Amino acid sequence: MTAAYDPNNIFAKILRGEIPSHKVYEDDKILAFMDVMPQSNGHCLVVPKTPARNLLDASVEQLTDLMPVVQKIAKAAVKAFEADGAVIMQFNEAPAGQTVFHLHFHVVPRYEGVPMRPHEGGMADGAILAANAAKLRVALA
Ligand code: AMP
Repeated sequence: MTAAYDPNNIFAKILRGEIPSHKVYEDDKILAFMDVMPQSNGHCLVVPKTPARNLLDASVEQLTDLMPVVQKIAKAAVKAFEADGAVIMQFNEAPAGQTVFHLHFHVVPRYEGVPMRPHEGGMADGAILAANAAKLRVALA
């Protein structure tokens, strides 16, 4: 059985504005921001503003709201970073690789011949994340 949603997870804190993030997209239901440990240049995350641990307890409505934004961000990321493709990832519970227990979709731009860095590989420079967020916002406009 899936554990209960913990409102003190780091993405809930980002959603409440308690900790900073490099935002790329926001509407009344969804927020997208840069991943601080990017697996490729331009890696970002798309989350619902309402609570869900992951796909296993998400509502159909949350998923219905999320997926068009995931597609929009993926298309914008490919354009903004001149990527050759994009991986969409989503992990459910710790044994499956989940480390933050608020539903999120990873959008990871991919570049021909460039391997993906490991999950939770290392913190990116804040200035690079800020510049990439700005590039993505321009591509989304
Ligand atoms: P997952 O393993 O699917 O739960 O992925 C969680 C992701 O959140 C990882 O890729 C982390 O690099 C990323 N992450 C952790 N803390 C933050 C943060 N404060 N802001 C942005 N991304 C974060």
